[in-house]
Amino acid sequence: MSTEHMQASLAQPYLDGLVHHQIRFQSCTTCGRAQTFAHDACEHCGAERLEWKTSSGRGRVHAVTVVSRAPSDAFRALAPYTLVVVEMQEGARVMGHAAAGVRIGEPVVASYFDHLGQNLIRFEKLTP
Ligand SMILES: [Zn+2]
Repeated sequence: MSTEHMQASLAQPYLDGLVHHQIRFQSCTTCGRAQTFAHDACEHCGAERLEWKTSSGRGRVHAVTVVSRAPSDAFRALAPYTLVVVEMQEGARVMGHAAAGVRIGEPVVASYFDHLGQNLIRFEKLTP
């Protein structure tokens, strides 16, 4: 099996989650920690017993990037746009779109939108 194929199938539960407007992540049944990228083993303790869980959709902005030049034709119509990395409440980090002006540390909640047939995440500011 090729590496590419492995990675595609490992990420499939995450992609399936987006279709259902859910953020899914791998959680280790040994140490209980969440990991950001799907893997065969836990990135924290190396155990190979991982299960998929669904996030609450809430987290805090960890990093913000404004993309002025879209990487592909599919995203050109959206540019400029804001991408964020959000640390979910459960500990996994997830990348998504966000409204312009979001700042690091702000609480956000995931919403979803369809762009040319792709399910994408957009994090909205969580108003207290
Ligand atoms: Zn672990």
